[in-house]
Formats: sequence, C-alpha cells, structure tokens
Amino acid sequence: MSRTFRHIGPALWAFAATLFVALATGAVALWGHWPGSLAVSAAGIVALLGSTLLAVRSWRNARALDQATDALTRSALRIGQGDYARPVEAHGDDSMGELEQAMERMRARLRQSTINKDYLRSILDSMTDAVFLTSPDGVVKTANAAACKMLGFAEEELLGRGIVSLLDPSVRADFDLLQAAQDTRETVVRTRDGQTIPVSLAGSRVETDDPQFQGNIFVARNVTERKRAERRIRYLARYDTLTKVANRMQFQHLLQQTIARGLRSGRTVALLYLDMDRFKEVNDTFGHATGDRVLEVLAERLIRTVPQTAILGRLAGDEFALCVHGLPAETDNRVPVGQLARTILNEVARAFQLNQQEVFLTASIGIAFCPRDAENVIDLIRNADAAMYHAKQNGGNTFTFYSPEMNAAAVERLILKSKLRRSVERDELVIRYQPKVALASGQVVGAEALLRWRLPGHGDIPPSRFIPLAEETNLILDIGEWVLNRVCMDYRQLKTAGGEPGRISLNLSLRQLRQASFILRCRSVFRRHGVSPTALELEITETTLMADSKNTLRLLEELYAMGLHLSIDDFGTGYSSLSALQQFPIGTLKIDQSFVRDVEHNAGNATLVRTIIEMGHSLGMIVVAEGVETASQLQFLEENGCDQAQGRLFGEPCAAEELLATLQRQGATGAPFGHLLRRAGALERPA
Ligand code: C2E
Ligand code: MG
Ligand code: MG
Repeated sequence: MSRTFRHIGPALWAFAATLFVALATGAVALWGHWPGSLAVSAAGIVALLGSTLLAVRSWRNARALDQATDALTRSALRIGQGDYARPVEAHGDDSMGELEQAMERMRARLRQSTINKDYLRSILDSMTDAVFLTSPDGVVKTANAAACKMLGFAEEELLGRGIVSLLDPSVRADFDLLQAAQDTRETVVRTRDGQTIPVSLAGSRVETDDPQFQGNIFVARNVTERKRAERRIRYLARYDTLTKVANRMQFQHLLQQTIARGLRSGRTVALLYLDMDRFKEVNDTFGHATGDRVLEVLAERLIRTVPQTAILGRLAGDEFALCVHGLPAETDNRVPVGQLARTILNEVARAFQLNQQEVFLTASIGIAFCPRDAENVIDLIRNADAAMYHAKQNGGNTFTFYSPEMNAAAVERLILKSKLRRSVERDELVIRYQPKVALASGQVVGAEALLRWRLPGHGDIPPSRFIPLAEETNLILDIGEWVLNRVCMDYRQLKTAGGEPGRISLNLSLRQLRQASFILRCRSVFRRHGVSPTALELEITETTLMADSKNTLRLLEELYAMGLHLSIDDFGTGYSSLSALQQFPIGTLKIDQSFVRDVEHNAGNATLVRTIIEMGHSLGMIVVAEGVETASQLQFLEENGCDQAQGRLFGEPCAAEELLATLQRQGATGAPFGHLLRRAGALERPA
C-alpha cells in the first residue's frame, strides 16, 4: 500500500495545493477584500475537481502497477527457486506487458534447458556403467548413480576428488591421465570400504571451445565377472575339472620343464603311468556318474599318497601320470620308485563305496626314467605307457619298469591290428569247440565255440590278444558274423553226420549286440543254414548285460523270443547284483574259471562257488563251471550240485571233426566222461 501511495504522491500534493488555493481565495472573496477573488475561487474549485480526478486516476494506475509488480515478483521468485513449470503470471494490464513477455520467454528457455539437463542426468543415472565427468586435470565434476554405487560414496563425496585418487594405490603409479583420457584400459578402483574392483576404464575428451565445459568423460565397467570367467577358462584349460589335477596338456608342460631342469642339474626324473584295470566295467555297470566319482576319490587318494613335490596329472579317462623329480643320478632309483608304486597300488586297492556297495579295484603302473629311458616328454610318456601296458598284460594290479623290448610289443600290436583286418578274407580264423559235460550223466550236452586266429608265422593267436583289437577297430562285427556262420555250418554238418551236439554256445561282444541290424542278421544266418535258433546259445558277460541295460533287455527279449538260449559268461567277475540280472531272460549261469581254479584249496572261493550254484538254481538257471582242470574240482562241483562243467579235464578245445568223433562215441557207448564222475563214474566206464 505504501508503494501505491508513493506512486500517487504528486497527485495528492497537487490536490492539497489546489484545495488550499480554492479555500484561501474563497475566504478572501467572502470577506470582500479582493473583488476578483470569487473568480479565483471558482477557478480553484474547478482545479480542485481536476486534481481530485487526477488523484483518483493515479490511485487506480498505481494499484494496477503494484499488482503486476507483485505478480512478476512472485513469478521471479518461483523461477529463482527452479520452478519453471508454471507460466509467468500475466496481469492482463499492458503496463508491464513487455516485461512479463520477456520474463515468460526467459522462463520457457530456462525450462527447456532444465528439461534437457534433467534428461541427461536421468540417462547418466540409468547407465549401468560408472560415469565420471572430470575437468581437464581429472577432478570429478559429476558422477552418476552407478559410479556412486560401485565405489560406495555419495556423489557430493566424489565431487572435487581427482579421478586418480579413486584407483587402487597399486595401480596409481601406472596411471597416465592424458593417456587414459583417450584410450580404454584395465585398472583397479578401490571402494570406500577398501575393496578392489577390476574395471575396464574408457576415457574420452570433451572437445568444446567453452573452457567451462572442457574436460574428460571416464566410463568404468566392473569386469569382476569377466575376470573370474577368464580365470576359470585358464583353469579349465590346464586342470581337469573332475579331479582337480593337471590335465594332459598342463602335465606335459610341467613334465617338459621338469625334464629340462633335471637334465641341467644332472638329476633323474621318474614318470609313473597309472591306468585302472577294467575300469570300463565300472562305468558300464554303475554308470558314468559313479565312474566319475571313483576317479575323484582315486585322485584324492593319489594326492594324499604321492610326495608333495611330485606332479600329478590326469592324462585321459582312467589314466593318471605322476612325475617324481630330483632323484640322484648315480643310484638305481628302482627301489624307492617301486616302493612308491606299491604304496599307490595299495591305496587304489582299498574299497570304493559305490551305491552302498563295496567295490575293489586295481590299477597297473608303468615306470620310465629320464634320462635313462628317454630324454623328452613324448618318448618318456610313450615308454611309461608301454611299461603300463605290460603290467596290464601280466594281469594288472602291478607295476613294471620300462625296458626297450616293450616298445617292440606296442609296434607289434599295431601290426597285428592291420593284419587282423585281412584275417577274414584270408581265411585265417578257425573255431574250436569245448564240450560241456552234464555232471549228472557224464554226457556231452553241448559245446562252446571258441575262436582262434591262425596267423601264418605266429601260430594260433588266442582271443584274449585279438578280440580287444577287433573290438577297438569294430572288426568284431565282421568277425562275429563269420563265427555265427561258421558255427551254423558246423552244426548242420554235425547233425548230418549223425552227431547230437546239444546246444552250441558262442560268445557275443557288446559291440555286436549294439549293432542296429544284429537281430536281422542273426535271423538271416539261421535261415541260410537251416538251423533252428533253439540249437544255439549266446554267452554274454555280466558287463555287457549291464551296459545300457534297458536296451540290452529289449534285445535279449527279442533273441529269447526267437528261441535262442542265453547265458551269463564269467559270472562273478563283474559287479552286477543278482536282482539286476534277474530281469534278463537268462537260462544259464557260467561260473568264471578264476573261482573254479582253486576251489578245493580256497575256502573263500569254495563258498562263492557254492553260493553261485544255489543262487542260480533258486532262479531256475542251469549252472555251468568253466575251466575245470582237475578231478577234485569236478568232485567239488558234483557234490555241490553244479549242472555242467567244461575245461581241460575233458580235453582241449577241438576241431568240429574231433567233437563229432566224441559225439559219435557217446552215441555208441554212452557217456564219454562218465568215468571222471563219482556218481556216474560208478555206472559208466570209458569205452
Ligand atoms: P570264455 O568265454 O570264458 O572262454 C573260456 C576260456 O577259457 C577259453 O579261452 C578257453 O580256452 C579257456 N579254457 C577252457 N578250459 C580251460 C581250462 O581248463 N583251464 C584254463 N586255464 N582255461 C580254460 P579262450 O579260447 O582263450 O577264450 C578267451 C575268451 O575269449 C573267451 O572267454 C571269450 O570271452 C572270448 N572269445 C572266444 N571266442 C570268442 C568269439 O568267437 N567271439 C567273442 N566275442 N569272444 C570270444
Ligand atoms: Mg564263453
Ligand atoms: Mg567264460
């Protein structure tokens, strides 16, 4: 209000002066002192009226101005406080119009630039990478939300700090601000609570003429995960994930270094090559997951057993290698290294707990020395491997030192493989028959067909040497089919010649069973030779049965439905439980010869054989004992109710003609082996 009065002040003065003049002249006129005073007084009244009008107008104008000023002041205050949203209050009076318009333009511009600034800020804050805007000398002017989160500081705490001060002290010396502002590098930042974070830091300069906006932008990306992945990849490339020991590549690398050091310092290096015996059976019987668990446990045992300075590696599946270094050159190291190998074998021989079952495993170890046996990684491994192979050939669960002839054996294996390929075409394969004798009658009730390879210059090669090679090369499929054809042909001839061969059994490999067309092929062979499948028996090992048991069951049921008789070969050497075997349509159980061998002297084996016989019978199976060599073995089997036996006691496996002669003898005079039996022997005498 006082401001309004200030605006109309002159008009009020004019009004007061006019009023005074009008009153003074009026009084003079009334008293008659001055004749013209009436006229003056009249003029004064007119002037008074005029000044009154003027004062009122001034009052009105002043009030309008005042309200406009207030409105502008309010708008200015709002703008000053950063509120650009509401337009400048227009008063409707054009007295301040230009000022209002100018102010409104200013507000709109400010609002626009604020919107841009907020927008930019929200973009910065929504970035997952940490962003720092700095002055040209690296002082932080802005840090986005991700930067604050990564470092654990509020933005205000970061502002004013040098970007270098945010790095871990260990990397600060290497940090060149100028360079960093124009490249991408990996560095390490340090958080408020002292943690270090590896980051990829990308710098770029802000190029502008306005010195106020010059500076750098640094974008820091947390690469902890990537670093971890890199470390993991590096680890995976060098270490075996399952057993956590060096893999083949890393082991060879370490061995190379060790050999070089050994050669320089004149010390001896020993390489022990370990391979589990029959490990495939563990995988086939219990599945690969269990097999893996065995390897894990094995590696743990090895780590605990071997000297701390030794290098352990997993070279493949169930193959491990151990490098012992720093051995004296002048002494024979075979005794201490042999002791180590023995300790390792003892560790391996401790029971493994698999699916609530105790399983005992063994291994074979081959040992080679550097420089004695080889001076480079490849030859040293090859020689230790050859020695290991030898240990395996000797029955496993043992160690062997390398000797030069061993490599010759490996070379021979290769030659054998290539010769085996031509064995079928060259007619080098022959079948030998081993009679099966019924213990109740002493009669031949069947025979097992056993394959021989008659390689010129090598004599008869036993199946134990070439069947594994045939399986490795898949030649077993051709060979197996040849055997089936041959057996059917022989069977036909035996029958034609008047022999009663009973059931002829043949051995089947897992690979044959896995062959998609196996059943079709069997049918076609039987048809070709006019042989009923009921005349034949297929021998399948426990391990073969348990490998992929679902599929095997389906196949065996089909074979059984065709009329084929099925038997489990080498029973007792696998790990199958009886309940697992029960599901298969098996008619015969063949006790492995290793249990029969010393059944008269070994109480454990005697119990085992007795149990197998009882168990087989309780399942309605025929029980056959293999590898019977002595009369006392036969007696034991007889006493314990075994059904049939086969073995050297009844003669070596023989040609079909010889079998025919035995059968013809049987036809003429009764049981050819009756004299070997206690019960039957009392009745029958050899012809
Ligand atoms: P298998 O089926 O267990 O055959 C029994 C093995 O024991 C035969 O060895 C036989 O000659 C041998 N043997 C027989 N009686 C005695 C004895 O009284 N004492 C001793 N110590 N051994 C005896 P062979 O012929 O060397 O065959 C070894 C294995 O080769 C066979 O074991 C069988 O698994 C496999 N095999 C043989 N022929 C074939 C075949 O045609 N196909 C396939 N896939 N495997 C075959
Ligand atoms: Mg057999
Ligand atoms: Mg057998």
